[in-house]
Amino acid sequence: MPGDVYSTPKYLFDDVPAPGELWEVAKGVMWLRMPLPMALDHINLYLLEEDDGWWIIDTGIAIGPTQALWEQIFAESLGGKPVKAVLSTHYHPDHVGMAGWLCERWQAPFYMTQAEYLSGLAFSRMQPEHFSWSSERYLQRAGYAPEQVERARERFNGFGDYIKPMPTAYRRLVDGASLTIGGRRWRVVVGSGHCPEHACLYSETLNILISGDQVIPKITSNVSVMAGEPEANPLKDWLASHERFLDTLPADALVLPAHNAPFHGLHTRLRHLIEHHEEHLLALEEACVEAAPTAMELLPVLFKRPLDDSQLGLALGECVAHLNYLHQRGQLARELSGNGQYTYRSIDDTLRLRLRRNRAEPDDQAVLQV
Ligand SMILES: [Zn+2]
Repeated sequence: MPGDVYSTPKYLFDDVPAPGELWEVAKGVMWLRMPLPMALDHINLYLLEEDDGWWIIDTGIAIGPTQALWEQIFAESLGGKPVKAVLSTHYHPDHVGMAGWLCERWQAPFYMTQAEYLSGLAFSRMQPEHFSWSSERYLQRAGYAPEQVERARERFNGFGDYIKPMPTAYRRLVDGASLTIGGRRWRVVVGSGHCPEHACLYSETLNILISGDQVIPKITSNVSVMAGEPEANPLKDWLASHERFLDTLPADALVLPAHNAPFHGLHTRLRHLIEHHEEHLLALEEACVEAAPTAMELLPVLFKRPLDDSQLGLALGECVAHLNYLHQRGQLARELSGNGQYTYRSIDDTLRLRLRRNRAEPDDQAVLQV
């Protein structure tokens, strides 16, 4: 396996395609972008060509101009060939939002891993009444004030507005399986942590990895504990996935991510992300030496900028993911205080001495994304 010569991501292009435009990244592999109505203002989608049709990899969100842009692409850019299959890397609305509509439009099969398909069904059908006593307790234990819990209840709304009704059937992707598309084999490589069972596709012939949100060159994917599984340890899965990708995917693969732009430098990026989370873990542990803070009180350790209501839930989820990781590894003690909040205290007595270690400030590049 060749060494990783890229100390920073090396982008394939200097620019990005305009909405509705298709750019060829390799023979039979097209890159396009769809707009998103949020700070993260785009998603990258990919089309794979066969003699008799196209595969769509990820679909865009089900609001705004996405549907009109798809119709424009069908009319102008597919060379008269139909869509043969639709695949979503994971259940988040920017990836699965239009899958149901696309499959219906083309009577095409839908490919996804099982955990993502079932998660997509659940989240797209969630109703306001699913904000329950357990959602409230999760937020209270994390340190939300009662009025913040109320605001969270008012904002709670599942993903239904952003996802067309999910495809009613699917073909299951599993780690290690192969798809033959346009005469080439694409290996399914499953990662976890950003979501339960994220599918990436790797072609050895092309040395291309379609990475979804599992590997993104600039922003960091959200790794969150959610109220529905308060004791989850997604950061453990996330770090283990990165180690596995380092072991099993070549350093010089061209990476086609769902955000930012196609790049080289896979191993450097994976190592940087591992370090980024290790810095965050250490910073949290340090903040729990002198005091016994709540998750909410620890947010400024990870996020230096002010967070609005729309970012707070994801930021808190990310913070709790780090705390659960440390707690479950026996590095932080967790106590339930009299007012129903969890407080955290470092177990390592030698940590104070190690605090002298010169270390970079936590990276505030983290963009919270769905
Ligand atoms: Zn995602």
